Order: sequence, then structure tokens, then C-alpha cells
Amino acid sequence: MEQKKFKKIGILSSGGDAPGMSAAIKSVTCSAIARGVEVVGIVGGYAGLINDDVRPLDIADVSDIISHGGTYLRSARCDEFKYEEGMQKAIATCKRHNIDGIVAIGGDGTFRGATDLSIRGIPCIGIPGTIDNDITATDYTIGYDTAMNSVVRMGDQLRDTSESHSRCCVMEVMGRDAGYIAIETALALNAIGVALIEIPFDKNAMFEKIKAMRAKGQNSFIVIVAEGLGTEFGESLTKEIEKETGVESRFVRPAHIVRGGTPTLRDRSLACVMGDKAVDLLLNGVSDVVICSRKDEIIATDIKWALIVDRMFKNKLKDGDLDAFSAEDIKAMKALCEERRAYFKNMYDIIKTIGC
Ligand code: ADP
Repeated sequence: MEQKKFKKIGILSSGGDAPGMSAAIKSVTCSAIARGVEVVGIVGGYAGLINDDVRPLDIADVSDIISHGGTYLRSARCDEFKYEEGMQKAIATCKRHNIDGIVAIGGDGTFRGATDLSIRGIPCIGIPGTIDNDITATDYTIGYDTAMNSVVRMGDQLRDTSESHSRCCVMEVMGRDAGYIAIETALALNAIGVALIEIPFDKNAMFEKIKAMRAKGQNSFIVIVAEGLGTEFGESLTKEIEKETGVESRFVRPAHIVRGGTPTLRDRSLACVMGDKAVDLLLNGVSDVVICSRKDEIIATDIKWALIVDRMFKNKLKDGDLDAFSAEDIKAMKALCEERRAYFKNMYDIIKTIGC
């Protein structure tokens, strides 16, 4: 089959915003224009496709956005896009603007949408942009590094005030159902405990350690709790710590504050490299893949593979999910899930040993 000639591609960001999304938009725009392809920005994710909110992007439009937090093309959640009627409106917009393919930056929901567009004749490539790092197929997502650094900055500030007042501070950190931000920042903040979905939380051992360290004269304690455990968890743990250990305790939820901010070097660099790779592949006839960073290599992973390995890792596989995959694929998925589980276990054990 003759390879499709791309004249114009679209770019959108969708789902939760993340620092570095703008850098990815810049990279895709400049990379496509450098290859002689026009670019349009779709404003507000898939809602922009449905509402025909599409505008041309030139190099000058994106020349200063590499350092911007949030996303230059804005983001939104759009339920209408999940239904055939909304999807058809989106396809009609693509046709009206002669959009030959789309690069979609976002999380797993965004990739599901991209697959639906690809099936209907608009080739799409996904770029993982979410602070949560909850895309199992990639080691890093755009925004994760910036969010972790923001949490660490805030945690250091909490340590200062907790030290002055001899308190324990429990901080709930974002991550949706994933504990990546929680476990990494707990280690970096020298937390005495971390609670997250992936590993059973030994709270009694933590209470005993707090009591022992207080007896030795330690003033302050930091405990990190992952958002995925629910809104009540952190607050009730804070009360329990005070009751069980006698250490005055406070609960803090920085919430969306960690979603903003200037992207770190690492997030900018990841965004630029992934954006360029996405354009290169799309123009060479590849679609329905998500760009992943695996062991410091940038690779393309089949979107369906990426979505299913996510479900496998979260123990949410449904009947028939694995039917379309070869034994070799399933083996590779299981190995990746094991790798992620071993990472969480190892990190948890280190924090339990050295956190204080
Ligand atoms: P994220 O991409 O960060 O996971 P969401 O889950 O909110 O965020 O998904 C972003 C958008 O992707 C949704 O608002 C919707 O427009 C689209 N989307 C999500 N799930 C699907 C689906 N199953 N089919 C088609 N589009 C979807």
C-alpha cells in the first residue's frame, strides 16, 4: 500500500494538565514544520475537535512556550467524544481542516480516544503527559519530574515548621490511583512512613518508630500519603498518629498546586524528544502507538498493549483482554508488571529502613 503523504497534522493536549505539555506542543510544531508539514493546534483536547476550535500554529506561536507550565493548547475532559455522535463531529472537523493525523498528549483516557480516531481513519500517536506517571508502558511521563520536585520543595518547608513546633506532618500527594509521586518524594523527604495502594501499609511499625525516635529526641516527622487511598485516609491517619504516639500532628493537602509550575529540565527534554519522535513516526506511516521512555531509550509501544499492561498492573484485567495478544506479548507484559512491583517493594523497604 502506498504510504499516505502528510500535509497537515493536528496536535492536542487532553485529560489532566502537566508541566511540559507546552514543551511537547512546541516540539511537535517545530519538528513538523521543519519536515515541510503544516500544523494546527486543537484547543481544549477532544472538545476542540467537536467544537471546531482549531487554529494554525507557526514557529513564532510556540517560540517562547518551552518554559510554560500548564498547557498552551488548554485541556478539558470531554464525555461527548466517547460516543459515536461526538466522534463523528470530531472526524468531520478533521476533514474540514484537512488534518491528516494527530499527536495527542495525555494519559490513558486520551490514548483510548486516539485509538478510536485511528480506527475511523485519522492516524494518531500518543505522548504520555501526566504528573501521575501512571502509564505502565513508560518509565517516565511528562510532568512527573516537575510535580515531584514541587512536592519536595513543599515537604522541605513543612519540615522546617514541623521541626520548630515538634510536630508530625502528614502530606497527601496527587497521583490518582498511582503511588509513584508518593514513593519517590517520601524517600527524598526522609519521611518516616509512606502509604500507597501498591504496598500494604504497616502503620503500627510506623507508630512504634515515631515513638522510638521521639524518645531519642527527634522533633519532626513527615509522613506521605498517596491520593489514591481516598480523601478520608490522610486525615484519619493524622488523628491516629497523634493518639497513638502523642506527637502533635497536622494534615496538609497541596492538591492541584503541584500540577502547575515551570517544567524542570528533565520534563522539557523528555517532551522535546518525545514530540520529535512522534512526528517522525507519524509522517513515516506509524500510528496507534504511544511514545515511551524505557531504560533511557525512546521507543514506540502499541497503544492497545500499553492500555492492557496498565490494567494488568492494576489487577483490573477483564475477560478477553489478553485474547488479541501473543504468548510473547503476555510474557513481556507480566515481566514489566513484575519490574514495577519490585520497584515499589524495594523503595518501600528502603524508606522503612532509613526514613526518620
Ligand atoms: P487522561 O488522558 O489523563 O487519562 P481522561 O481519562 O479524563 O484523562 O481522558 C481524557 C479524555 O479522553 C476524555 O475526556 C475523553 O474525551 C477521552 N476519552 C477517555 N476515555 C475514552 C474512551 N474510552 N473512548 C474515547 N475517548 C475517551
